[in-house]
Amino acid sequence: MRQTSAVLPTDATLATARLQVLGDGRGLDEQQVLDILRLPDQHVPDLLALAHEARLRWCGPEVEVEGIVSVKTGGCPEDCHFCAQSGLFPSPVRAAWLDIPSLVRAAVETAKTGASEFCIVAAVRGPDARLMAQMREGVAAIRAAVDINVAASLGMLSQEQVDELAAMGVHRYNHNLETARSYFPSVVSTHTWEERWATLTMVRDAGMEVCCGGIVGMGETLEQRAEFAAQLAELDPHEVPLNFLNPRPGTPFGDLPVMDGTDALRTIAAFRLALPHTILRYAGGREITLGDLGTRDGMLGGVNAVIVGNYLTTLGRDADADLALLDELAMPIKALSLTL
Ligand code: SF4
Repeated sequence: MRQTSAVLPTDATLATARLQVLGDGRGLDEQQVLDILRLPDQHVPDLLALAHEARLRWCGPEVEVEGIVSVKTGGCPEDCHFCAQSGLFPSPVRAAWLDIPSLVRAAVETAKTGASEFCIVAAVRGPDARLMAQMREGVAAIRAAVDINVAASLGMLSQEQVDELAAMGVHRYNHNLETARSYFPSVVSTHTWEERWATLTMVRDAGMEVCCGGIVGMGETLEQRAEFAAQLAELDPHEVPLNFLNPRPGTPFGDLPVMDGTDALRTIAAFRLALPHTILRYAGGREITLGDLGTRDGMLGGVNAVIVGNYLTTLGRDADADLALLDELAMPIKALSLTL
């Protein structure tokens, strides 16, 4: 009797991913990511298990914990359609600045959670002289007060500003590409994807760690989601924060539906398999997309970093709840000394 050796496409997709990512440490390419994003729901548990294995194999069990603080909130001149901090939409977020003592207090509080990263964020197109002066003073004050890595996210930079931030001791710079190059014009009209890319390459060439991710669930196609993963893999960032759209009232994307939880998990696993060595961080939107149970699934499906506490314009989960979950999953918090 003839044996049937037919391999279902789904099985082949996962088997190839296993060999290539788990075996060789090579991330999936754009077409392979697309195949993963098209996997039927019943294969998602196997997919998450594979992504988790890949994370453990190439990154280890540690989880990097980061706190973020906004030094300048709202009133941004750009028009990113998902963002409540744009001054161009009738969003409820109004412009406000944080003073240096409050900044230092936030860093100290963040360090108490065990976090190794503290990211200073400003809602701006790029920093002006006032913001750069505040960074100089703020970074020095934080470094004098507490042992924590300082990261920054201040929009697009000139070469001079890149050099200055590196000299201040900012060790990682966040600047998200947000979405696939082909979809970016549907998300932002006031600047280009290429302008963002230029900042990222300057940051990388200056020796700072590059943190670059984006938002999924903004109406992009699965092909564009795969394109985005491949573009991130080309950049090869140290860290990828993955956000799920949390539609904010008053923004152009305010009426988009919340992303389906299974789709979100499939996306997490696909990005892990495209970027086996990177820090893949849960950023905003996971609470409404995934809830508590889904958060756990993602931590067991490729994610190895979290932001504790609140995000910039929306409330996150309680930091204690996240830390308790890591404890329960036996995932140690990455120690500060290992990241220096
Ligand atoms: S995402 Fe950043 S650049 Fe875009 S509007 Fe919001 S704060 Fe401004």
